[in-house]
Parts: sequence; C-alpha cells; structure tokens
Amino acid sequence: MVAGPGTLTQTPRPAVFFDRDGVFNVDHGYTHKVEGIEWIPGGPQAVRRLNDLGYLVIIVTNQSGIGRGYYDEAAMHAVHDALRAHLATAGGRIDAIYFAPHHEDATLERYRHPDHPDRKPNPGMLLRAMQDFAIDRERSFLIGDKPSDLEAARRAGIAGHLFDGVDLDAAVRAIVGG
Ligand SMILES: [Mg+2]
Repeated sequence: MVAGPGTLTQTPRPAVFFDRDGVFNVDHGYTHKVEGIEWIPGGPQAVRRLNDLGYLVIIVTNQSGIGRGYYDEAAMHAVHDALRAHLATAGGRIDAIYFAPHHEDATLERYRHPDHPDRKPNPGMLLRAMQDFAIDRERSFLIGDKPSDLEAARRAGIAGHLFDGVDLDAAVRAIVGG
C-alpha cells in the first residue's frame, strides 16, 4: 500500500513484481516474526541485478493474517524492514511494497471482503502500482510461487513465472539473461 511518486511524465520502465513468502523467504505460513525468517538464496543478488538493469522492483503480497487478526501491520512492516536490510547486503533496493490484508473470513471487519480486488489472484495491487509508477507493461513480469500469483499477473496483462524456491537470482537470470 505504499504509493510511489507521481511519475506520469516519466519514461515508462519495466517492473518486476515479486510475491514475498516462498520467494524471498521460506513460506512457513503467515510469516510475521523477524526472528526465524529463513531467507531463500539469491534474493539480494536478484534484486540488485534488476536494479542495475533499470527495472522497478515491486513486492505484491497477500497478508490475510492481518485481517484474520494473527498479527498486525506493525509486525508486517518489521518483516519488510528486515527484508530491505537483507536485500541491501548485496545493494538490492525495493521500490515499493503493496499488501492485501483482506480475506473473506477476516475477523477484522474492515478487512472482511468476499473477493477483494487487491487479493491475489485478483490483480488490484499490480494495477495500482501501474498507476503509481510509469511502468512498461510489455517488458514487465511477475515471479511467484503459487498459481494464484501467476493468475494475478495474467489478469494484469503481464507475464508470470513460477519460482521453484531454489535460487532467486538463477531464476531471474533465466528470464533477463546474465
Ligand atoms: Mg507465496
């Protein structure tokens, strides 16, 4: 839900949309504690590579654990701070993180929604990023570990790549070369 600067006058750049859990960190389910985060190899190098190639790097993450009351936004932001610090170990930098706290069974009423447009497989977070940043859709793609990630990419009109969870930089190199 982080908005980028107004960039309508800027030349569109390609963007890589990353899912978070199962892509940067091992998905143990509702990851919300900094302690115990298990980083998947290659994340910092992958992001640095994309930064250097001129891609915007944007994370789009379903966080229904917030709506379900398992943890709060502050806990999620702490995880994101840890992720940014981790990526910075190779000079990697994220341009924006969008999250969807909604779920049809949310215990917090404000996040209860039968099919929120932001919650993947819906493309709302990607479409919002495309409004917040000048993005070249043709050259943009998503990397996620679930079919619902790829479906969100499809609905947003960009390519989607399924990540096997082994080495994120190897996965990125297979797409962009290098
Ligand atoms: Mg995932």
